Amino acid sequence: MESSEKGRMSAGKLYQTLQEAYRNKLKMPYYYVPACPKCGSYITGRFVRARNDNDADWIIDESLRHGEIVSPVPKVLSENCFCCECNTTFTGNVEMRWLSMNELDAEKLKRDIYAIWQERQGNDEKKDKRSLLSKIADHLR
Ligand SMILES: [Zn+2]
Repeated sequence: MESSEKGRMSAGKLYQTLQEAYRNKLKMPYYYVPACPKCGSYITGRFVRARNDNDADWIIDESLRHGEIVSPVPKVLSENCFCCECNTTFTGNVEMRWLSMNELDAEKLKRDIYAIWQERQGNDEKKDKRSLLSKIADHLR
């Protein structure tokens, strides 16, 4: 009696796990950076660790492609987030969320990802590849 009860519970749990896996397949992981506590803007990003400048460019592009604003730094400090509008840094609770494609698009709009992306792509000269984000990173250093 007790063991069959237990069996049913684990079947339910298995179903739950499969359902979750299915939902996760449709959704994408997204590091959600909270709004700026100072100006309320959602054009916020997080600091990530990068080993060198080549890594830094790649990390910024790949993150923007995914709707995330990041600024590579040698070491991430306790103030792990920054605001692109008022140039402030703050300690934010960056949580991983599962977003559908629609939700992801909404985040991209909210965070002005396309403008930042275009600005980065506009700079053809490798030498002058000074993005808004790296300017911000310099400013904060
Ligand atoms: Zn701000």
